[in-house]
Amino acid sequence: MSLFDHQNESKTGPDTAAQEAQGTSPDAGHASTITGAERPIAKAYSPSHIWKSSISWRITLAVFMTILLVQTVVLIFTKPAYEAEQLAGVRELGRTALALSLTEARQPLSQQAAARLMSHSLIEGFTIYGLDDNVVETFGAQTLLRPKLGQDTLISFRSVDNRHYESVFVSGELRHPYNVVAKMDASAVQPHVVAYIHQSLWILVFMSGFVTSVLMIVLSVWLLEPMILLRNNLLSAARNPEKPDIQNLKNDMHDEIGIAIRIANDLIRQNASSLKRLRVQAESKIHKLAYFDTLTGLPNRAYFLEQLEDLIKNKILGAGESLAVMSVDIDHFKDINDTMGHEIGDKLLEAIGKRLVKSLPSDAMVARSSADEFTIMVLLEAGGDSAALSASIFTAMAEPVSILQESFQVRVSIGVSHYPADGSEARHILKNADIALNRAKEEGRDTVRYYSQEFDDAVHHRFEILRDLRNAMSQKELQLFYHPQFDLRTGKIVGAEALIRWWKPNSSKEGGIFIPPIEFIPVAEQAGLIVPIGEYVLRTACKTNKMWQDKGLPPFRIAVNISGVQFHRGDIVGLVDTVLKETGLAPHLLELEVTESVFMENMQGAIDILHKLHGLGVELAVDDFGTGYSSLSYLRQFPIDRLKIDQSFIRNALVNVDDKMITKTIITLGHSLDLKVIAEGVETAEHEALLKDSGCDEVQGFKYTKPIPADKFWDYAIEYNRTLARNTKLSVV
Ligand code: C2E
Ligand code: MG
Ligand code: MG
Repeated sequence: MSLFDHQNESKTGPDTAAQEAQGTSPDAGHASTITGAERPIAKAYSPSHIWKSSISWRITLAVFMTILLVQTVVLIFTKPAYEAEQLAGVRELGRTALALSLTEARQPLSQQAAARLMSHSLIEGFTIYGLDDNVVETFGAQTLLRPKLGQDTLISFRSVDNRHYESVFVSGELRHPYNVVAKMDASAVQPHVVAYIHQSLWILVFMSGFVTSVLMIVLSVWLLEPMILLRNNLLSAARNPEKPDIQNLKNDMHDEIGIAIRIANDLIRQNASSLKRLRVQAESKIHKLAYFDTLTGLPNRAYFLEQLEDLIKNKILGAGESLAVMSVDIDHFKDINDTMGHEIGDKLLEAIGKRLVKSLPSDAMVARSSADEFTIMVLLEAGGDSAALSASIFTAMAEPVSILQESFQVRVSIGVSHYPADGSEARHILKNADIALNRAKEEGRDTVRYYSQEFDDAVHHRFEILRDLRNAMSQKELQLFYHPQFDLRTGKIVGAEALIRWWKPNSSKEGGIFIPPIEFIPVAEQAGLIVPIGEYVLRTACKTNKMWQDKGLPPFRIAVNISGVQFHRGDIVGLVDTVLKETGLAPHLLELEVTESVFMENMQGAIDILHKLHGLGVELAVDDFGTGYSSLSYLRQFPIDRLKIDQSFIRNALVNVDDKMITKTIITLGHSLDLKVIAEGVETAEHEALLKDSGCDEVQGFKYTKPIPADKFWDYAIEYNRTLARNTKLSVV
């Protein structure tokens, strides 16, 4: 099985995100449903909406008022006509009754006939005029009008209280040779008019109500329902722009509103799909930024760790299978970066990332976990061996990497841990690979180390040291021992190296043990504690030397070891200046020992600091010379006074030709640069003789004495000088 099969199942990687962006992922299928084409139409509108809709109320009210107004105007215009019609009816009744009565009578009319006429008709009284307009006879109620001679027009008159109606009937109307003015009972006309108005008003109200209701229904179907649907769609788009709940019209309306709704829906859908596409793209970008290294394109530590966690959680290992987790660190990458520039450094990282991927099985995961560290995960089949993997990485690195016409020989250190053998949790396994890597680096780099419990114990031990070291400082458990240095020619004591010791009290009969600096100085350097410790050493050493001088010892240098951390992170120049002033020691009686690694960390910075220190008048020595990156070019640039040959060469010089050659070469080199050369680790007379023959200037070693506390050193120096003075020959030769 492949690691990446599983990865694809368990993670939404950038590819999946890209699919989503193109709308091809399963989720994107869901996105297509927002187009609403297949979406069943939900009921967005209910009849109750009509009562709540202000627009329909306004339209309806406007229509209602318009109808009312029109009807009222019509009524105002028709009412007089109706009244006139009623009066005309009364007059016609009166005329008919008069015409009949006059036709039947021989005389114009008898009293009885007139009385009968008035009791059977609306006529209350009348006056008969001859054609010459003279009154012929008068009956009943008095009339006021008079016919005018030859006038055919209707002359009528209605009483103020509307009860009576008086009219002139001409002879032509009555088919009789008389004109008659009759007063008629018109009291029924007014109630008729009022009834007419009532009836008209009822019709008006009914009509308005009917029209309004029809209008409401029409409005709700053609206007309100689509408007509410549009409003709901817009609201939904505002609330959830990516997945709006879009509803379509029930009927396929092709009018202006229908078209407007379709356009609005299309816009909402377009907006939703653009937003979704943008989100998916942004998520994919964020995922890449969060989980992938932009320089090499490889996954980063977080992604690696998640994958490892997933693999462990999902129990993907078959019988006998295991996972190899490897931390690969580029040796001295920082130096390359500092000296050659970041552009070259970046290109180197890219090239190494590619080589790692190429050199490993295709299902291996290679991640860039920090600046110059890569982390690798490989599935090992039953009986599989991670040694083959590291061998393959070393082979891949053997070929120099060429960048911008320069060729770089890259070396790597590798730490390996295994799941499940070295831990059950992803973080733990990765940490163990890092512990193994540290071990590989500590043990000379360009090598591989496989995690073992013992490494962990060492780390644990370091933690304990760090914890106790803080106490040691406050409890004054740190002391200085001194190791004398001699001039090989004169035999005189020319210096003393101050070496720190930690007296750690315990319950043993000695009351404690001395912890050698090699055990706690690296821990103090890592934790930054070396800065206060170094300050203590410098101050104590200077004070002690000043005291010795004051008490009468012949002047000699006190050599103090300066750590790279102190050199680059503390204010070493300021400190030395202060301590010299504080203690009153002559600057040339102080020597600072620095190792070659100090120069490599920050070349230009180191040159500046060394010049400043030299400017104070102190001497400078390169400690453990020959173990680092000895280069003539830097030796020329630095204002140093002394090379201190590493004790490993002296130790082996008598048995190993190479080491003997190196020792002699360093002495010659030092002298050619006008530097003094001191050898440390001189344990035997043979060592001394060899160095003397080779022209070495000074020596330091167990042959003379082991490092001793200040009071013992005083006694030793007094005794030594006395003996030296007694012998004319050099006692040390
Ligand atoms: P170093 O500066 O190279 O110091 C010389 C070391 O070699 C001392 O070990 C000394 O005891 C040892 N040595 C000298 N002659 C002989 C010899 O003939 N035979 C053998 N077997 N060893 C000899 P020590 O005191 O254990 O110091 C170890 C290292 O710890 C020092 O190496 C130095 O790097 C560091 N160190 C010691 N004191 C300090 C300190 O105050 N500050 C800093 N930064 N480092 C210190
Ligand atoms: Mg030293
Ligand atoms: Mg040394």
